[in-house]
Amino acid sequence: MTQATLSTANVSNTAVIQTKSFTPKDIDRIFNAQKKKALELRLTNYKTRIQKLKKLKDVVLKYQPQIQNALHADFRKSAGEVDITEILPTIAEINDAIRHIKHWMRPKNVMTPPTLLGATSRIVYEPKGVCLIIAPWNYPFHLAIAPLAAAIAAGNTVMLKPSEFTPNTANIINVMLNEIFSEDEVAVFEGDVSVATALLEIPFDHIFFTGSTPVGKIVMAAAAKNLTSVTLELGGKSPSIIAEDADMKVAAERIMWGKFLNAGQTCVAPDYLLIPEAKVEEFVKYAKETTESFFKSKPENFTASTDFCRIVNAKNFSRVSSYIDDAVKKGAKIAYGGEVRSSDNFIAPTILNNVSLDSKIMEDEIFGPLLPIVTYKSLDDAIHIINERPKPLALYIFTKKRSTSKYVLRRTSSGGAVINDVILHLVNPNLPFGGVNHSGHGSYHGIFGFKTFSHERSVLQTPKASIAKLMYPPYSGFVRLMVKLTTKFFV
Ligand code: NAD
Repeated sequence: MTQATLSTANVSNTAVIQTKSFTPKDIDRIFNAQKKKALELRLTNYKTRIQKLKKLKDVVLKYQPQIQNALHADFRKSAGEVDITEILPTIAEINDAIRHIKHWMRPKNVMTPPTLLGATSRIVYEPKGVCLIIAPWNYPFHLAIAPLAAAIAAGNTVMLKPSEFTPNTANIINVMLNEIFSEDEVAVFEGDVSVATALLEIPFDHIFFTGSTPVGKIVMAAAAKNLTSVTLELGGKSPSIIAEDADMKVAAERIMWGKFLNAGQTCVAPDYLLIPEAKVEEFVKYAKETTESFFKSKPENFTASTDFCRIVNAKNFSRVSSYIDDAVKKGAKIAYGGEVRSSDNFIAPTILNNVSLDSKIMEDEIFGPLLPIVTYKSLDDAIHIINERPKPLALYIFTKKRSTSKYVLRRTSSGGAVINDVILHLVNPNLPFGGVNHSGHGSYHGIFGFKTFSHERSVLQTPKASIAKLMYPPYSGFVRLMVKLTTKFFV
């Protein structure tokens, strides 16, 4: 495996294990080696792929303590949160593939129309080939390894670039995968944007990118030069609507959990809250109680909680804390929290009330532990606020009435939606996980990941005597009659 000798300006970490270095020329060499290997992997059966997935699972479990340490070193993520949000979902994804790969790989017979009488039709799943996976820093382990598992299940080779903002995790991923894969099958490229840029020059068979919407546009433009297919798992502002009739205690507890998990640095975190004016006080009361019970402390000593992680770096710290100042300047009130400390990039769980729609916090994806509250008069006003913004990755609705959730779902669009909870839709491997327009293209998890990394090839097998022959030229009166009858009765 490999470590960047391109620009590593943003990577400073003494604990990093020295891995083999590479030059831009090595990218080409590894790509060519993977192209050869990909031809071999096309022929692998489900048993071989299960063996590879089992090796991946074993090495993740073997390195679990090192993964926990790496994430703690990167942004003080607790071992418990690492287990829940990085290890568990990764193992679940690998296990799901192990259980179903035999079925997923099997060609699917489909109906053949009478115009092709005697022919048979099937969809065959073939690996895309050499794939590039670019991962973000916010769940730096899971969001690198879960797509990798899907790519392996589908029979591909992978060049993987983890985020430079979590260098300890990137390094342990490199060391771990180096132990079980040769570089012509899976190669890890540690390093910053210059490494990603060099990789994006290559004519991959597929690019799977998880990250921000602006960088998603750069990736899509680079892929277009080679007509490479892309999956874009992006971000956005995911709203939570609380309806008049919602159970306020339940809503507060669930929204606070989703907001403060990973200190709000979650792509599907409830970004902002839409709530009727009359319910704000009750919501804030329960939200405060919940937050204190989660972290067992008062706001002034939240820093003591080992279960509340830090903002990943100084740049994001100043971006997120500036949202508080801007919102307050525009009339918002801090209903809870508000403390920030630059020495360790700490921002307290914070609730902002009376937030103006023209505040920065209502324009950008927050990606931090701040919950802005916006009030609405009617459900249609709330829907209008959502539809004025780009389509979000997730939408959350809290209500006891099915008619209310249906009303909102029918009038809005989002990558996914959860009724009376947040985030949990991504736990079900039978649901595709992905965005729509600005929040992403394509999806993965379970069979959807397998399909993302596969080409669905159409195969039609015709009999010796094909009736299609009846429509060959010259286009005589008989041929025209056949077309007329077919148009009328068979298509
Ligand atoms: P980012 O877009 O800054 O970086 C993601 C990756 O892209 C990194 O590996 C980085 O090195 C690389 N990169 C950065 N600039 C690049 C460039 N100019 N050219 C090529 N590659 C480049 O995102 P981030 O800050 O790491 O992650 C946070 C964002 O990711 C948020 O917007 C969040 O919503 C989104 N996200 C989405 C999902 C999802 O599943 N939809 C999951 C996690 C995070």
